[in-house]
Amino acid sequence: MANFGFDQPVEAAMVRAMRVPLLDLAPQYRMLADEIRTQIDEVLSTQRFILGPKVKAFEAALAALCGHGTVIGVSSGTDALLAILMALGIGRGDAIITSAYTFFATAACAVRLGARPAFVDIDPTTYNLSPSALERFLSQECERKNGELFLRNSGDRVRAIIPVHLYGLCCDMAAINALATEYGVAVIEDAAQAIGAEYPFTDGTRVAGTMSLTGFFSFYPSKNLGAAGDAGAVICEDPALANRISAVREHGMRPRYYHDIVGGNFRLDEIQAAILQVKLPHLKEWAAARRGAADFYRAEFAKVGLTNVVAAPVEPYRGKVEQHHVYHQFVIRISDRDRLRKYLTQHEIGNEIYYPLGLHLQACFRDLGYGQGDLPETDRAANETLALPIYPEISHEAQSYVVRTIRDFFVQTEERGR
Ligand SMILES: *Cc1c(COP(=O)(O)O)cnc(C)c1O
Repeated sequence: MANFGFDQPVEAAMVRAMRVPLLDLAPQYRMLADEIRTQIDEVLSTQRFILGPKVKAFEAALAALCGHGTVIGVSSGTDALLAILMALGIGRGDAIITSAYTFFATAACAVRLGARPAFVDIDPTTYNLSPSALERFLSQECERKNGELFLRNSGDRVRAIIPVHLYGLCCDMAAINALATEYGVAVIEDAAQAIGAEYPFTDGTRVAGTMSLTGFFSFYPSKNLGAAGDAGAVICEDPALANRISAVREHGMRPRYYHDIVGGNFRLDEIQAAILQVKLPHLKEWAAARRGAADFYRAEFAKVGLTNVVAAPVEPYRGKVEQHHVYHQFVIRISDRDRLRKYLTQHEIGNEIYYPLGLHLQACFRDLGYGQGDLPETDRAANETLALPIYPEISHEAQSYVVRTIRDFFVQTEERGR
């Protein structure tokens, strides 16, 4: 058994045992309850429920916050991506390239339309799509014919690369965009976990969702900007594509009851938009509080001598942009993950694995032909990562308890090994 090198006695009594949830949405609601209720009342008294003034106002406010593009409010993050792919006419015979270390929706939307997902491995430090793995894939697994790109194996036409800004950290978009341009493929950003996160290009800062052809957000209640139910948004700078996506949101209807294309019912409703607009002005301060909590975790891990066994998230853009990370999740990496997880759960500390199985190995994608070892960094991350409690209002006391409990786990592991 490894020796973790603890030289100090365990001060078990110093931190009081407590229950720490993975996420607590109650403090945020308490702070905004009056405003939110007023907004809901207003919608109810006007009886304007679908694509009315609240949706329009929220779309404008979010576009202003992102600084670029048109925002189209939709019914969920999943529907945002589905609407984008439908507007681009992606379907049978097409392929998209994405990471397998993400939420199911990233790949499933393409599959629902008959397209094939091709998975590329992640960077082991950021957990985001690896530019070098992407380059290898594009140069070795794809071939160019008449100015278009095809998968060598299946013959499907590669239509888009979908990088996922996982946990609130932007992908290396300069590298990904350069490859996409070189190979003539569009980029769609999955910014579901990264609203407000910034990336430092050499010619200036850009926010998640606005660094490519189009991007999307999720307002699932646990996301950094959460609705009171399902909601999402697309952001797009190309007016023609934005127009098409907003038509797809309403069954491709343009004008009313005339349909050039087939869309769906992907509408955002007024109550959700009204609630989101109350929360939006606080998003930046909440992200700053999340970064503060991440700093505190890091300091506590250092204090108890755990930095060699617990890998904290990396911060490649720190000092280059203000919102270098928005910490949707604070994910650590440890070799003994499953046992630590059990120990934390026993001590009433919320935790979760995002994600325990790469998409390439999911049963429903068996026919794609992937096996264990095809994406080694994805497999390793799926076995070693663990999300710890983080939210803007989390207390230092709670965080100290989390870190002390993790230290106790390692001390006990070490003692058992002696
Ligand atoms: C949450 C999420 C989605 C889907 O958003 P929903 O609003 O739940 O449909 C897509 N991609 C990623 C990475 C997500 O985390």
